[in-house]
Amino acid sequence: MHAAMSHSVDPIGYLHSCFKEKFAIPRQPQLAPAARGVLELVAPYDRAEAIQGLEQVSHVWLLFLFHQALEDKPRLKVRPPRLGGNASLGVFASRATHRPNGIGQSVVKLERVEPGRLWLSGIDLLDGTPVLDIKPYVPYADSVAEARNAIADAAPARVTVAWEQSALQQAQEHGLRLNEPLPELIEQCLAQDPRPAYQIPQPERRYGVLLWDVQVRWHYPEPGRILVLEVVPG
Ligand code: SAM
Repeated sequence: MHAAMSHSVDPIGYLHSCFKEKFAIPRQPQLAPAARGVLELVAPYDRAEAIQGLEQVSHVWLLFLFHQALEDKPRLKVRPPRLGGNASLGVFASRATHRPNGIGQSVVKLERVEPGRLWLSGIDLLDGTPVLDIKPYVPYADSVAEARNAIADAAPARVTVAWEQSALQQAQEHGLRLNEPLPELIEQCLAQDPRPAYQIPQPERRYGVLLWDVQVRWHYPEPGRILVLEVVPG
């Protein structure tokens, strides 16, 4: 018999991320290498001892709370966006955000580390995400050469992203100001096609998302092709 056990956890830090809203965040890490953020550690983990040795590691696992998707009612089935939002799947067969205990995990690239701060890229986390733990990625144990997943067997298909000339220039200028690879970030995120799969994109419909402090607007001149219209202060 098991004894009912409950255990409380406290964040070790909070993420400052390029993603200010859930819309248009890639569905997994590594899909947008230009997606960057800084993990700010809180006391006592902001001291040098806590990260000693971490500079020898290229990637880390983040365990975090889906703080914008927490719910009380247990869910056994989810409708992953990947399956078009219609088909459902057991919660444990999916990495959907609505899940028991609301815990997410992502492998991200560690660009730089200093006491109290980790610079990360390839993230799929919302701004303000509470992080519960950091663990070094261990290639010999964490990468499984023969692993298969027939539900998600390859990265999602990408759509073509084209730019209005003026929008590309705006993205370059804001990128310089922010010291961030902004045109790349926009292309990598939009190539994932953030639009809900059940919507047929009408050419007249405009979509938008806030990345860092800029609003990116685009439309679909035809299905499967995105045209970035403008990149303006958000
Ligand atoms: N790689 C993680 C995992 O497998 O546990 C996350 C996968 S989940 C499918 C990725 C989505 O979570 C993103 O597209 C974003 O919309 C959402 N998300 C990211 N951070 C979140 C947060 N703090 N609260 C709620 N949703 C979040």
